[in-house]
Amino acid sequence: MDKVIITAAVVGSRPTRADNPAVPYSPAEIASAAIECANAGAAIAHIHVRDPETGEPSSRLDYFQEALERIRAQCDMLINLTTSGLNLTGPEAGEQRLEVVGLRPDLCSLDVGSVNFPDRLFANPPGWVDIAARRMQAAGVKPEIEVFDTGHVSQALDLVGRGFVDDPPYFQLCMGVRWGIPATPENLLFMRRQLPADALWSVLGVGRAQLPMITMSLLLGGHVRVGFEDNLYLRKGVLAASNAEFVEQAVRLARELGREPATPSETREMLGIRIDPISGAASAAG
Ligand code: ZN
Repeated sequence: MDKVIITAAVVGSRPTRADNPAVPYSPAEIASAAIECANAGAAIAHIHVRDPETGEPSSRLDYFQEALERIRAQCDMLINLTTSGLNLTGPEAGEQRLEVVGLRPDLCSLDVGSVNFPDRLFANPPGWVDIAARRMQAAGVKPEIEVFDTGHVSQALDLVGRGFVDDPPYFQLCMGVRWGIPATPENLLFMRRQLPADALWSVLGVGRAQLPMITMSLLLGGHVRVGFEDNLYLRKGVLAASNAEFVEQAVRLARELGREPATPSETREMLGIRIDPISGAASAAG
């Protein structure tokens, strides 16, 4: 089977140091968490940013830029900046969510469907999704299509079919996010069956579902995402001391199951991303 792309989602927008004291807040802490994960075998860092003092979710572009530059200065892992903008409200929110595309990361997350979270609506209206996909395509930024339920896969396939996403489409199957699709083996198989044959797909499982869901993905030939955004515990009752511990666990598991972690350059090849020799920035190969 192909090598496995390991994504480290090192902070997300929800967990705090009250939940786990190792959650990184400042751009420097977030970057160093990502670099530790690269050293442990992760090929992609999925990045949100926080207020360095309070840990509140932030959308400040200078924080994203600092994290990106610090990571790029230290390693060649791919950088995936979030466009979820869950902290943003108001008429400008849709546009603000897309400001990170201008930083030319290797990837940006692209949420194609709306979903109810327990405390709020995660709204991704069709018009915004089209604009977001086109913006990424024009900037040469690979979208990582996040799907929280089966209907989102249908929406994504429509987007791909209309030419808004370059081949191969790359999916993140988000399993067990309340109130998205529950993280069960049957549901993962069902989600995977909806995907086109040439799609690359990765799986995340929330909380205690992280380990079983990534194990299933490894068995089925998929890729995996781990990290504090999804889970804070290495095992029942034991908080992870770092994001890198999750990556180490994923690497051990992958190797036991006969799969080697993909390097950043192998990951670029698989995703159709090349490095622009002039700017040093990544761009989708088309
Ligand atoms: Zn995220």
